[in-house]
Amino acid sequence: MAQILRGKWKHYRIVDWSERLGGLITRSALTRAMPYQFKFDLTRVSRFFFREITEAAHRRSLHRKLGDAAAHLLQRFRVQEITGLDLAQALMLLEDLVDIQMKNLSNRERFLKTGRRVLFLPHCSRKHMDNRCKAVFDRDIPSYDCARCSPDCLVGQATLVGENKGYDVYVVPGGSCIHQILQRGRYESLVGVACGDEIKLAQGLLDKTGLPGQTVPLIKNGCANTKFNLRALKNIL
Ligand code: SF4
Repeated sequence: MAQILRGKWKHYRIVDWSERLGGLITRSALTRAMPYQFKFDLTRVSRFFFREITEAAHRRSLHRKLGDAAAHLLQRFRVQEITGLDLAQALMLLEDLVDIQMKNLSNRERFLKTGRRVLFLPHCSRKHMDNRCKAVFDRDIPSYDCARCSPDCLVGQATLVGENKGYDVYVVPGGSCIHQILQRGRYESLVGVACGDEIKLAQGLLDKTGLPGQTVPLIKNGCANTKFNLRALKNIL
């Protein structure tokens, strides 16, 4: 049901963008249930793209009015060409990325004042999703306990970075585990790595609990072999 509701909500947002872009978006895009392809890969898009969209949003104060500037940035960084997303999907993805950055900025000051912090990592970014991953899953938490079996595993590397910075680190199978862990650990703030949709769901939870959060969106989405930017995570911790 949540997915359908989100789909409807996105539907209205697509209409909104369509109006701003003078009807460039096709009817087929308007009827799409998902906001954009579940699988996308932004790992080959220049990192300057992400910096520039945030700065552009800041300059204009209201990123939802980026309009032509957003379309120009997508074209300049060849986002559609590289990712295969159509214009409507690329614009919504961009809008979500800016939303995430803006929320991080607005929470940053409060976040930096907190002591007891927790880091949530997505299990789908593990190098292996089968028994080659030596992490032990504890159903009671619920979380994977990384055994550091592969030096080039993104989750293994991020776990190490988080622990060295004093974070409790949980490798979770989904956003539904977060509430339970937050309550049990009495954390004052959190950092989460997840896909845009999970981040938006978690945001509702954070708004309820009042905890200042920082989030890092996946730049390669899907069910397995997902990716996030380790440097972005290090900067945010
Ligand atoms: S480093 Fe950790 S998360 Fe990655 S495959 Fe090994 S045990 Fe699993």
